[in-house]
Amino acid sequence: MTPMADYFELPDELHVYYRFSYGGLSPFFRALVEEEKILGSRCPQCGKVYCPPRTHCGACYVDTQWLPLSGKGTVIAAVYCYWTPADWPVRPYVDLPYVYALVRLDGADTCLNSAVVVDDMRLNEKVRQGTRVRAVFRERREGKITDFYFVPDEE
Ligand SMILES: [Zn+2]
Repeated sequence: MTPMADYFELPDELHVYYRFSYGGLSPFFRALVEEEKILGSRCPQCGKVYCPPRTHCGACYVDTQWLPLSGKGTVIAAVYCYWTPADWPVRPYVDLPYVYALVRLDGADTCLNSAVVVDDMRLNEKVRQGTRVRAVFRERREGKITDFYFVPDEE
């Protein structure tokens, strides 16, 4: 085993500005920003609908096709968050406490991770497995999965 070297270290910072390409998933993010719509992708061979979308079906290895989803869905699982690290994806966008949930949009076979926002502390009375939710789009959208969140759909 090599002993640890006694290197001199100096704290420093590195700032990197770059443009990130969403590539084949660009239509999903463009629809969030420009149309306030959530797109899924459907496999033309097996019919599986992915949301979040995939450019290819993992089972059939064929290109998927875009389809709009209603933005309404069902909570599959929920966690109540009273604390999150500062870099948690939804943290800058919602106040604590909030619900972090797996939501399966109507017509989709897979689930999104997203925040479910309620207007009071009775989270577990309002959001649980089976709760119907609908997407709400932020006024300022940036092409991120956090451009929308869910609220209970109390039709
Ligand atoms: Zn398939």
